[in-house]
Amino acid sequence: MFNKILIANRGEIAVRIIRACMEMGIKTVAIYSEADKDSLHTQMADEAICVGPAPSKDSYLNIKNIISATVLSGAEAVHPGFGFLSENSKFAQICKECNIVFIGPDSEIIDSMGNKSNARSIMIDAKVPVVPGSDGIIKDYKDAVDMAQKIGYPIMLKASAGGGGRGIRIIRHEKDLLKEFNAAKAESRVSFGDDSIYMEKYIEEPHHIEFQILADNYGNVIHIGERDCSLQRRNQKILEESPSPFLTDELRKSMGEVAIKAAKAVNYKNAGTIEFLVDKNKNFYFMEMNTRVQVEHPISEMVSNIDIIKEQIKIAFGHKLNYKQEDVNIKGHAIECRINAEDPHKKFTPSPGKIENLHVPGGMGIRFDGNVYSGYEIPHYYDSMIGKLIAYGNNREEAISRMKRALTEFIIEGVKTNIDFQLDIVNDKNFIKGIYDTSFIEKYKK
Ligand code: ADP
Ligand code: ADP
Ligand code: MG
Repeated sequence: MFNKILIANRGEIAVRIIRACMEMGIKTVAIYSEADKDSLHTQMADEAICVGPAPSKDSYLNIKNIISATVLSGAEAVHPGFGFLSENSKFAQICKECNIVFIGPDSEIIDSMGNKSNARSIMIDAKVPVVPGSDGIIKDYKDAVDMAQKIGYPIMLKASAGGGGRGIRIIRHEKDLLKEFNAAKAESRVSFGDDSIYMEKYIEEPHHIEFQILADNYGNVIHIGERDCSLQRRNQKILEESPSPFLTDELRKSMGEVAIKAAKAVNYKNAGTIEFLVDKNKNFYFMEMNTRVQVEHPISEMVSNIDIIKEQIKIAFGHKLNYKQEDVNIKGHAIECRINAEDPHKKFTPSPGKIENLHVPGGMGIRFDGNVYSGYEIPHYYDSMIGKLIAYGNNREEAISRMKRALTEFIIEGVKTNIDFQLDIVNDKNFIKGIYDTSFIEKYKK
């Protein structure tokens, strides 16, 4: 096994990876920015190396400094976590050239799946159903008009290089197309350094359902069930559960098979996620693949009893998957609430600052993956997510009652959080019945 791994990330995912390494007897190297000197991940790792000033572009995205830190520390592998450099094929390639194992797929796979319109084309060729839309990127405005007429309004314009819920626009009428088309291109150029955009039909009130894939270096590909991530605000997930209350066993089986087919089409390696949209008639469409670990991976871990981070490390080292699809046994139900330092009463604006007092819930079936402690000062430079509360139960009802209990018990003082907002969701009668789609929060929780 690896002797030492460098974690090229911060926050709760860095802590999560350090924990897995500790259990595996692997030494850890944290990288941190000047703003994260007192961060939990910096303190928990065996070694910590400062890679630059607070802004991400100078530190957590600073490839030169991160590669230097890896070489200096003697780490044999780098775990990129999610966000930051996790889907940067150039970084994966440089690691390889420096004889550092990148814990994730090869740079070629990141390239083919990371670009969303490219991924669509590959899936069309592999006969995987995709959301109706453009074949590749849209050339110009005229192309957009023709395409929109063909697929019918409402439509969505999406940045090929987009992610994290950004770079997506809905257009309901042709009269708005010109303005939105230009704005989408401009925004995409500024945010992602690439102005290519593509078009999809807007699926009304859909369900976001994704499959967790594990693939080793020898062509073995399995999935460990699905996650329902339909509870979103502005296309960003806030609560996820596994299994999905919307899927029938039959649909689950066929979507799982298609997810594996999609991963095999690009010779996928390591952990990844195939995201689908499912319409109200239960037609499902490939939306995108995330070639990295997801924020919401713990709910799959809870119901499958598989440690996804450990599997990523073992796969990257060259181990074979030691179970087959039929050995994966999904049991019970898990729900995750993302805990963000933000103010729900002020349009969810981030609320960084010092945590004056903290009580994290515990007890049977409760897990908290976070990076906070009493006295910790949340920097304003990064994402507002400070942790994830996960509840496991023998069934959905038990998972919900545990989540309610745990959210009630949670105390975070000094900064505003979305804990009460999450409590409103899990107390909602439709949520309890399992009746919701991606429009839920917009409609009920204004
Ligand atoms: P997940 O399904 O894992 O939640 P997200 O798409 O929400 O996936 O992204 C996870 C993290 O990565 C978030 O913190 C998000 O802000 C960040 N992220 C993902 N893609 C991008 C991107 N292209 N540019 C900037 N940040 C991104
Ligand atoms: P990202 O890369 O930012 O994660 P996705 O393409 O995965 O972007 O889309 C994010 C979310 O936007 C989806 O989970 C879904 O709620 C919504 N969405 C995306 N495409 C469509 C579509 N064609 N119709 C309806 N909703 C969509
Ligand atoms: Mg997505």
